[in-house]
This record gives sequence, C-alpha cells and structure tokens, in this order.
Amino acid sequence: ETPLPLPQTTRVFTISNQKGGVGKTTTTVNLAAALSLSGAKVLVIDLDPQGNASTALGVEHRSDTPSVYDVIIGDVELGDVIQASPERGDLDCVPATIHLAGAEIELVSLVAREQRLRRALDEYLRSMDDPYDYVFIDCPPSLGLLTINAFVAASEVLIPIQCEYYALEGLSQLLKNIELIEKHLNPDLAVSTILLTMYDSRTNLANQVAQDVRDHFPQQVLDAIIPRSVRVSEAPSYGQSVIGYDPQSSGSLSYLEAAAEIARRGAPATQGGRH
Ligand code: ADP
Ligand code: MG
Repeated sequence: ETPLPLPQTTRVFTISNQKGGVGKTTTTVNLAAALSLSGAKVLVIDLDPQGNASTALGVEHRSDTPSVYDVIIGDVELGDVIQASPERGDLDCVPATIHLAGAEIELVSLVAREQRLRRALDEYLRSMDDPYDYVFIDCPPSLGLLTINAFVAASEVLIPIQCEYYALEGLSQLLKNIELIEKHLNPDLAVSTILLTMYDSRTNLANQVAQDVRDHFPQQVLDAIIPRSVRVSEAPSYGQSVIGYDPQSSGSLSYLEAAAEIARRGAPATQGGRH
C-alpha cells in the first residue's frame, strides 16, 4: 500500500489474449485492485459476456443490470452504468451481462462499429473533474468486434502469458492483429506490457517458457511473475481480489509487485494524452 507515482493522463489498457484461461480476468481484477490500493483511481470495463471480472469485483450483473452492453449497443452513457466495487481502494466497474453475448452480431450492422467503446469512454473521461488514472478492459477470448472495440479504446495492450508449452502459440496471430488495428484504426496502440502468469517454479518447462518470452520481448515483460496459487483461484468466489482475500499470499504480493512496476515504468513515451 505504498503510494505509487500516478500517470499524468489516463492510461487505458486492454488485457488481451485470444486464448481462454490464461489469466486475463484474474490479471485485470488484481492489477486494478493493487493500483487502487496504491492511491490510483481505477475503472475496470468488463467486456466478456461471461462477466467474470464483474463477479470477481463483487459487482451486480444480473440480466437486468445496466451494463456495457447498453453503452455499446444502446447509446447509454458510460457514467450511467458504472458501479463502485466493494474492494478497499477507489475502484469502479462497468459490468457485463449475458446480453453482451449477442453484441458481437448486433455490432456488425451499427455505424462506427469499431469505435463505440472508445467514443463512450473518451466522452466520459472528458466529463470527469477528476478522471481515472487507469482503465482496464477485460476482453473475451476471441478476436471479434468486442475485442476490436477494446483495442480501439485502449492505448496500451497487456498480454498475460501462461507459463506452459503452448504459450507462444497464437501469440504471433495476436501481434499481427494488433498491428492491423494500429495501422487502420488506432495509431496510438502499443503492446506495453507482458505478464507471465500461473508460473510453477518446480518445472523446467515453466522456466524455459519464461526465458523464451523474455528473450522475445525484453522491453515488455515485467520482472514480477505470477505464481500458480490456490489462493488466486479461490478469491473470485468470495467476490474479492486476492489482495483483499489474502493480502500476504504469494499471489497477492506478486500482483502488487507487477502493479508497482507498471506504475513506475509509466506509459510508453510516444503516447499523447487522453483527456
Ligand atoms: P481468462 O480470463 O484468460 O479466461 P482467468 O483469469 O479466468 O483466465 O483464469 C482461468 C482460471 O485459472 C480461473 O479459474 C482462475 O481462477 C485460474 N487462475 C488464474 N490465475 C491463476 C494463478 N496464478 N494461480 C492459480 N489459478 C489461477
Ligand atoms: Mg476472462
């Protein structure tokens, strides 16, 4: 809970990897909780119809709860669907409900279908007297229009990589897609951060994968590594981050470390301000 340096303007991250189960949601929720405990004002946007980030942050997301779906498809203002998380810091969440499952198809026929989230977010940030320091967008495990909306709304991509054999498979596809977005839709987008997750130090394989990823992406990979730990996977069932659930656990300490690195590194130098 040491105060960390705050960014000058809002840093908007999308947490992305088209593979499921690599730790996207867990990383979103725990980095958001860690940064908010360090004094930052943080918003999580749940863009996965599963609504796992909403659950983990203890935020209501029944089918009749106003949600990110209403913002993207229905032109409701972002500020009208934000809920405060019961986590200890200054942490808000835009919930996802089951309606979002249909959005992928409904978006196809809408005007400016790739920019819907960006417009809503920018408009809301501009209207705030004290804007968020960090916004984290939790993506579904696919490369459809919802994920494209997240890439267009963000300026930084954070890729969680699971320390296992198939880790690098699919990564080149993801990077190619990000390049396409950068070229055609969002020139400000950069892969700023890679986080190694579910690390088991007892296996040579995990060590090998971690080393491979560091060799490929020396600038982006954080020093902090998230260990595989039961406490991390238990926390969401209590509607809590692992930092709230078991502050001294290895998972909690490593997410706090990762958050500190992200705050101290700051945004990539090439980026303009957001609001
Ligand atoms: P994604 O959002 O990429 O699908 P999740 O964050 O939901 O991935 O993680 C997938 C599963 O792995 C969840 O059950 C989660 O609780 C568990 N998990 C994530 N990180 C860890 C970890 N460091 N240690 C143990 N289990 C983890
Ligand atoms: Mg998820």
